[in-house]
Amino acid sequence: MSDLKICVLGSGVIGLTTAIELRKEFRNSSIDIIADAFYSGTTSFVAAGLFLPIESNSGGSVERTSAWVKDSYNYWENIRALSESEEIGIRHLSGHILLNRSYNEESKALESLIPELRPLSEEELKFWPGNWKYGKYCTTLQIDPSRYLKWALYKVKELNINIIQRKITDFGQLTDGNYDVIANCTGIGAKVLCEDNELFALRGQVSLVKAPWVKNFVLDGNDCDTYIIPSFDNIVLGGCRHFESYNLAPNHYDALSMREKCEHLIPSLKNATLVEHKVGLRPFRLVTRVEQEYKPCSGRNMKIVHNYGHGGSGITLAPGTSLNAVQLVKDILIERRSKM
Ligand SMILES: Cc1cc2nc3c(=O)[nH]c(=O)nc-3n(C[C@H](O)[C@H](O)[C@H](O)COP(=O)(O)OP(=O)(O)OC[C@H]3O[C@@H](n4cnc5c(N)ncnc54)[C@H](O)[C@@H]3O)c2cc1C
Repeated sequence: MSDLKICVLGSGVIGLTTAIELRKEFRNSSIDIIADAFYSGTTSFVAAGLFLPIESNSGGSVERTSAWVKDSYNYWENIRALSESEEIGIRHLSGHILLNRSYNEESKALESLIPELRPLSEEELKFWPGNWKYGKYCTTLQIDPSRYLKWALYKVKELNINIIQRKITDFGQLTDGNYDVIANCTGIGAKVLCEDNELFALRGQVSLVKAPWVKNFVLDGNDCDTYIIPSFDNIVLGGCRHFESYNLAPNHYDALSMREKCEHLIPSLKNATLVEHKVGLRPFRLVTRVEQEYKPCSGRNMKIVHNYGHGGSGITLAPGTSLNAVQLVKDILIERRSKM
């Protein structure tokens, strides 16, 4: 299919992963990535990057969600096994998840995938300040977005994918590109672009600090609002979830309360030096939207494959939903050919 023209809208973790996978499938096609922001201007850049599916983000059925989780884990794990995995920003990371609700609520799909997931003993629980009733020790993957996005941007250029900076306010504006199909990976931008009232921002803020003595992650698993996650270059202290807040400026009081909660868990963080605060808008949707749409625009029937609404699990689920989206692109193109 050498005359194919594909547009990927969005250059966060979802857009870049989708573009790389589209290139593998359509080797001779022309692929453009169009986005109004790249790298540090995306939500993806803000994420802590822990591979930990959040129960509230799903594919709409247990089967579909499990397939996304499994495909994603295997995809990231294959990259982790490469000799350049540090440069790409993917590694194993261990840590504690502290809970006040039962351990048995844990997703079984995850248990069978990640290297280690076991309940904490009474002794281990007592180690942590607070009144924790349950806990888990877990070894999972960490995908550092600042490294992965840099690598993925380099990769798309190497794969001859064109990068265009442009804001799209209506799909009709893309008719000038004469695209056969558009992969819509616009994250929270889809709220306006698709007039999607089921998509909401969950504002998050983190503080990056220097504390090289912290080697493992720890998070409050009740609401995932307090976490300490060592990344390759810094430690990420988080966090918060503000429903329908679109303010991208760091909030002084959020920073203070996060720092206090994190220092309560690991008192030595009082000696950590601040690097910067980062803010991002999680694109939250009860069911992540990975589906086809035929949309009449400027006299044409545009073929769109949506891939957005990953909430707090976009780094985790990027490969699984992107592979799913690529299959939907293939289905559209096969249908187009059969009609020719
Ligand atoms: C504080 C915080 C911590 C997080 N921690 C984790 C974690 O540990 N693990 C995890 O799995 N997930 C985590 N997440 C969630 C994760 O960051 C998101 O789910 C993910 O980044 C969404 O990726 P995306 O590519 O859909 O969106 P984005 O990264 O925002 O990319 C969207 C792209 O679309 C472009 N775009 C949007 N609208 C338009 C338009 N109209 N025209 C042109 N271009 C447009 C943007 O410019 C951008 O390039 C966290 C998020 C936050 C905020």
